Amino acid sequence: MSLMNEILERVRRKDPEQMEFHQAVKEVLDTLEPTIARHPEFVKAGIFERIVEPDRVVMFRVPWVDDRGEVQVNRGIRVQFNNAIGPYKGGLRFHPSVNLGIIKFLGFEQIFKNSLTTLPMGGAKGGSDFDPKGRSEMEVMRFCQAFMRELYRHIGADTDVPAGDIGVGGREIGYMYGYYKKIRNEHTGVLTGKALDYGGSLVRPEATGYGVTYFAAEMLATRGQEMKDKVALVSGSGNVAQYTVEKINALGGRVISLSDSNGTIIDEKGIDAGKLAFVMDLKNNRRGRIKEYADKYGAKFFEGQDVWDVAREQGLKVDMAFPSATQNEINGKNAEALVKNGCGCVSEGANMPSTPEAVDVFQEYKILYGPGKAANAGGVATSGLEMSQNSMRFSWSREEVDSRLQGIMKSIHRACLDASETYGRKGDYVTGANIAGFIKVARSMLAYGIV
Ligand code: NDP
Repeated sequence: MSLMNEILERVRRKDPEQMEFHQAVKEVLDTLEPTIARHPEFVKAGIFERIVEPDRVVMFRVPWVDDRGEVQVNRGIRVQFNNAIGPYKGGLRFHPSVNLGIIKFLGFEQIFKNSLTTLPMGGAKGGSDFDPKGRSEMEVMRFCQAFMRELYRHIGADTDVPAGDIGVGGREIGYMYGYYKKIRNEHTGVLTGKALDYGGSLVRPEATGYGVTYFAAEMLATRGQEMKDKVALVSGSGNVAQYTVEKINALGGRVISLSDSNGTIIDEKGIDAGKLAFVMDLKNNRRGRIKEYADKYGAKFFEGQDVWDVAREQGLKVDMAFPSATQNEINGKNAEALVKNGCGCVSEGANMPSTPEAVDVFQEYKILYGPGKAANAGGVATSGLEMSQNSMRFSWSREEVDSRLQGIMKSIHRACLDASETYGRKGDYVTGANIAGFIKVARSMLAYGIV
């Protein structure tokens, strides 16, 4: 058995129920195979065995009192995966599906993503099975405070700097940061995604969606194409989806879909700036369902279906796809339908939104396929810029941050392409991203000895 298969088998045996984690590890180890021959020193130092084991996992009880006066108990998790190149960094996810396997997959991916940004950040992820949907403002606040009541002792501006993810936006970051500040009596850059008024960075809310779109534009340029007049599918309707739509519009493309966990809207005329403003108010302020879009604009609504099922069943012809909801949302069958209906570019806003079968389809047909850890790295990169500004006690202008973000996305794209070429898989962004992200972390781990 090859070394990589042996390691994967061990990972599976140790934690048999952590399916998403196995999936992420397999993808990375498969593509790191070519590094073995070039770097026997990594094998000797056990780097591959060590990198799949988190530095530490913290799991804790989060008790809080709901509006009816009843005690609720949720589970909190923080996985500090690897801090070889910088303090742990990665988002917090509040969603009922959260479990250790999902947080480990996200933390593992984060190691390589953060390394790709060129900024000094290690990999981590955390969250809770708390569901903010349907909860009152006060309930969300009490939960966030209860969550931080334990998390605070494990994080710090130079130790571990969490941020948002699914279910954790500006509101939740505000409550958590306010509570941290209160019990620690310090105002430091311990969380990113903060509002501008108390230490946030301009362009952080937009950064993931903008970055995903910049990455797609870079990929298109390698084939002499641009985004103008191209038609796109976007899934989800949260932070990443919203700003992906905004940037695609700015670059002259047309987005025809959005979704949430209740269904999908299709608007062939395109989700223009006015309609996007409606979505932002609906989702960020009124916290309503995407169906309201269909009611307001007369668009089609497909109840209980995701974008990719709808696209296959309706035979939608699109040029680009931006999955921006959650892991494993595109399966092999839907990937095949997408490609056969003309989609030549997939840029992943979500983390691991394509199943292994879907990735195989994208690669077999040689379409432009930007995996999440490269394509959506603009979010954490701008979080890194927020950390820098906090340390300097200084704020950069919107233009400054956006131009740094664009520069970082270009350099990630270039690093992926170069690594794919060096390791004999030219144009394969999956291999390129994994290897380019891995090498710097591995070299640092080597330098530290066995620790
Ligand atoms: P939000 O919570 O703002 O939005 C998530 C959207 O996806 C919502 O529309 C939500 O619908 C939908 N969704 C989430 N889970 C499911 C599910 N299981 N089934 C169907 N729909 C679902 O999260 P973000 O936009 O921040 O995150 C979206 C993706 O992007 C995630 O994979 C995240 O890890 C990734 N990402 C986010 C970054 C960031 O900076 N925020 C950075 C890099 C990656 P509903 O409201 O009905 O649940």
